[in-house]
Amino acid sequence: MKALTVRPPYAGQIVTGRKLVENRTRPTYYRGKILIHAGAAVHDHFKEIASTVTDPMGAIVGEVTILGSHSAAGCTRLDCRDLGGFRPGSAEVDFKDGPLHHWVLSDPVQYREPVPATGALGYWAPPESVMERVREQRRLLHD
Ligand SMILES: [Zn+2]
Repeated sequence: MKALTVRPPYAGQIVTGRKLVENRTRPTYYRGKILIHAGAAVHDHFKEIASTVTDPMGAIVGEVTILGSHSAAGCTRLDCRDLGGFRPGSAEVDFKDGPLHHWVLSDPVQYREPVPATGALGYWAPPESVMERVREQRRLLHD
C-alpha cells in the first residue's frame, strides 16, 4: 500500500471523515486505498495556532479511498464545498505553482494507534518495518 503525506491537522480531519476533499496542484490518476501519513509540521493555514494542534505528527494515522480528482475551477459539487474543497481565488488557497484540483476521498478509517514514519512528497511506499505495524493496526479494525 502506498502512503500520502498530509500536514496536520488536515490528516486527522481526513481519517475522521471531516475532510473528504484534498486540495492539490495536480490531478491524481491513482484510484483505491491509500495510507494517510500526518506530516511532521502543521499546515501553514494553522501556523498561528500550531502550538494548540495536538494531532499526531510524523505518523501514519489511517487510510482512505481515492475515488478520483477534478479541476476545482468551476466545481459545483456540494460535498467539495462542505467537506474541505477550496475554491480557486479564495483566501485559503496559497497554490502559486499550478491550478487547483479536488481529490475526492471516501471510506475514511482512523487507526487506534498512529504508526511513526517519515513522510515524503507524492505517493510513497513505507518500509516493511512500518508496514508490519500498519498491518497490525488494520487487524485491530476488525476486532
Ligand atoms: Zn470539487
